Amino acid sequence: MSIRRLPETLVNRIAAGEVVERPASALKELIENALDAGARSIAVTLRQGGLEGIAVTDDGHGIARDEIALALERHATSKLPDEAIEQVRTLGFRGEALPSIGSVARLTLASRQAGGDGWRLVCDNGVIGPIEPAAMPPGTRVEVDGLFERIPARRKFLRSPRSEYAACLDIVRRLAMARQDVAFVFEHDGRRVLSLPGGQEREDRVAQLIDRELADNHVIIALEREGVSLAGVASLPTFHRGSADHQYLFVNGRPVRDRLLVGAVRGAYADFIARDRHPVMALFLSVPVEEVDVNVHPAKTEVRFRDPAFMRGMIVSGLRRALDEAGMRVANRADASSTELWQREAIPAFEAASPQPDWPARSAGGAYGGVPLFGDRQARFSGFAPSGRAEPAPVHVAAEPREFPLGIARGQVARTYIVAEADDGLILVDQHAAHERLVLERMRRALADGAVARQALLLPEVVELDEPACDRIEGRIVELAELGLEIERFGPSAMLVRAAPAMLGLSDVTGLVRDLADDLAALGDATSLKGRLDLVAATMACHGSVRAGRVLSVTEMNALLREMEVTPHSGQCNHGRPTWIKLAHGDIEKLFGRH
Ligand code: ADP
Ligand code: MG
Repeated sequence: MSIRRLPETLVNRIAAGEVVERPASALKELIENALDAGARSIAVTLRQGGLEGIAVTDDGHGIARDEIALALERHATSKLPDEAIEQVRTLGFRGEALPSIGSVARLTLASRQAGGDGWRLVCDNGVIGPIEPAAMPPGTRVEVDGLFERIPARRKFLRSPRSEYAACLDIVRRLAMARQDVAFVFEHDGRRVLSLPGGQEREDRVAQLIDRELADNHVIIALEREGVSLAGVASLPTFHRGSADHQYLFVNGRPVRDRLLVGAVRGAYADFIARDRHPVMALFLSVPVEEVDVNVHPAKTEVRFRDPAFMRGMIVSGLRRALDEAGMRVANRADASSTELWQREAIPAFEAASPQPDWPARSAGGAYGGVPLFGDRQARFSGFAPSGRAEPAPVHVAAEPREFPLGIARGQVARTYIVAEADDGLILVDQHAAHERLVLERMRRALADGAVARQALLLPEVVELDEPACDRIEGRIVELAELGLEIERFGPSAMLVRAAPAMLGLSDVTGLVRDLADDLAALGDATSLKGRLDLVAATMACHGSVRAGRVLSVTEMNALLREMEVTPHSGQCNHGRPTWIKLAHGDIEKLFGRH
């Protein structure tokens, strides 16, 4: 087949795949255009979550009649007068939204500039109709009907009107939060959902959009440093939610999602709030344009800071300072869950970790009496040639076994079990199960401290997955980043991994990402990864360096034992099975009939 240039309509449809995935993304572009046009008042009307229709009406400067055709042409924009994309101050700049939407829906564009006449034009799935006169006040009105109706392959990926509506509401909420000076009206299926007057105080706008109670439970953030300013509204530590969904970040007026915020908020509130609770906030960074790149994401929902550490520091300091000043109000509310946490951690780790006496494998009698010593894990032996080995312990662990409850490692069996000598018996440790548990506990601790440490990969790794799997992971990017996995979308059917949790000593990034995608499918959207940290930790440990079947050096084995001794709950793996068993000297004697 010879190479041919694609027709314009097809090019637009392909672009539409990036810009308009669903009603909410079309809506976002339309509201952004209205804001860019200097609107003081914006009305949004949806039918059936936007699946049937979207209309956005503004009172902005309108489009000149002789520029209409250009507005519907790809890469035509009025917003980059001098090609300096780094200097862009408008929300839009690519000139892709209108042509993309017009290629996959019936788009009606009507506009009137002050002092001129109104006109109107329809672009029906890429076919542009004639320009007609229209009576209307100054401003612009864009209607989008039947999104993807002619493209069943895309239409079928749309969700229910309910969840499309939820996504649209989120868009309106974010953009309205960014611009409290502009009036917004939002109607869905004839019902008025939001009515926000222009010129509101920021804290009133934010409270009205997130939670009215915030009005009496907030601190005001205001901080300036080196030309960067941070402003915003954040909840007192006594006012919190079960998820971090209501933490909004805006950079130069643009709503963005950035994992930077998650970590910074954790850091700032760490002393005040239980780790499974989340403050509510809207933070606004004003940054010199050369400090931030907005052109990194098709939907412009991500930015790249030149100096992310500085921005993180700004947010932590801004929040801390505001919380300190509100200290009087915070101090008298003892946080029950943090006290409980402290008590739990105060239990001597090893005592809490000891296996329960009723575990069958613990007594040699049980093991001999028909219960296989290693239960279902016996299967792991198959496929291995006998591979037990013993090594002389290095000098620095030449300590007396009695100093260590789990003993000194003497060797490894089947590349799976560590054999250790304790003061009063023989210890067998399932290295994989133990590691899984340690990863879980390390993650819990790291999360309580802010975020899990990451290790950048020397070369970012591309992992190919099917599109729904990528979608699932993409929906969890922020959560995964908190868990130390820095991952991003890389085209429709691949993900790019930039960093992995440092604690894993990862060798198999691709395997990990694939397994996580499966985990996410099983979890469903409603469950947070932190809520199922056991599952995530197990998956991560599976691809870590201590998995079953790997040869460990005596030093590595001893390190594992020592860490288990100081880690709470390390006596059971994440599935509740023991991670180690002990044959006491007495038990061994019984086995040999010596008692
Ligand atoms: P971009 O916003 O990236 O420039 P769009 O495809 O969204 O690209 O819009 C193309 C052009 O149409 C804009 O540059 C602008 O000049 C004009 N336009 C679109 N919507 C409006 C509006 N609501 N009011 C005024 N002009 C608009
Ligand atoms: Mg635009």
